[in-house]
Amino acid sequence: MPGEFDLIDWIRQTQRNSPLLHLGIGDDLAVLKWPADELLLVGVDQVVDGVHFDSSVHSPRQIGRKAMNRNLSDCAAMGCLPAAAVAAVALPRDFSLDRAKELYQGLRQAGDAFDCPLVGGDTASWDGKLVLSVTILGRSAGGKIVTRAGARPGDGIFVTGPLGGSILGRHLTFEPRVQLGRELAAVATAMIDLSDGVSRDLAHICRASSVGAIVDAAAVPIHPDAVELSRRDRVSPLQHALNDGEDYELLFTTSAQTGQGIRIGQIAAEPRIFIRGEDGTPRPLAPLGWQHGIGR
Ligand code: ADP
Ligand code: MG
Repeated sequence: MPGEFDLIDWIRQTQRNSPLLHLGIGDDLAVLKWPADELLLVGVDQVVDGVHFDSSVHSPRQIGRKAMNRNLSDCAAMGCLPAAAVAAVALPRDFSLDRAKELYQGLRQAGDAFDCPLVGGDTASWDGKLVLSVTILGRSAGGKIVTRAGARPGDGIFVTGPLGGSILGRHLTFEPRVQLGRELAAVATAMIDLSDGVSRDLAHICRASSVGAIVDAAAVPIHPDAVELSRRDRVSPLQHALNDGEDYELLFTTSAQTGQGIRIGQIAAEPRIFIRGEDGTPRPLAPLGWQHGIGR
């Protein structure tokens, strides 16, 4: 029966070279050459069967791709360049070597699109479900880094694409906005990737920046998938666009005139978030977006 080392051997043999890579998979740690005077950004993001994907429906390649792309989207949100990633995987005991290789092809394809090699990882098999955790390293590469904390009263609030209904498929197939994030970093005062939904992710920016916001309901770009989902569940397309999450578009604030993004509102000094509807009346915007529960 094939084991962990057959998978690692295959990963090592099929590994691509990369300019920053001094020593890749096969030793206890990978070794990177890090350009002097560049900031190193690091983050980790995991996907869990039954929460972020459904292994009875989604292919290992799709799952691997999503796991890497979520991390690349975090790089986009900070305006950094992806540099390298490591992946830790807990495989169900009956997960075949071929399926594990497919999972890695998904990880690698997504990383290769942004010259972000997979330089190491850890493999376990167990009696539980598939869990895939990716740690990513990003580099400032001469650019400005954007946090959630810089939004100022008067800044416009922008999103980079239509929102809502990602559960119909885009949560797996989205393209992380890495290049766009780099460009926006030059003008954005704050930025975040839309993983939890506008209502919650805008609240993250407002809290970090100690500001509030007013969103113009009519300006929120609604994805056709939100309209489609609305037909099925009778939740309005706008509610889907505001709360669904996993759009992986960028939400950013700026006072500059930018040709990029769709303006959906404005940052305010008072630290509360409102949405202005058709009748012009502002109402509180509740953060109904996604949140993982934690037991007490
Ligand atoms: P250790 O027992 O020291 O943790 P491992 O056998 O786990 O060593 O790993 C050996 C090498 O294989 C390391 O370079 C590690 O980064 C790599 N590796 C192990 N599992 C994975 C994986 N799932 N994906 C990528 N690289 C892996
Ligand atoms: Mg190990």
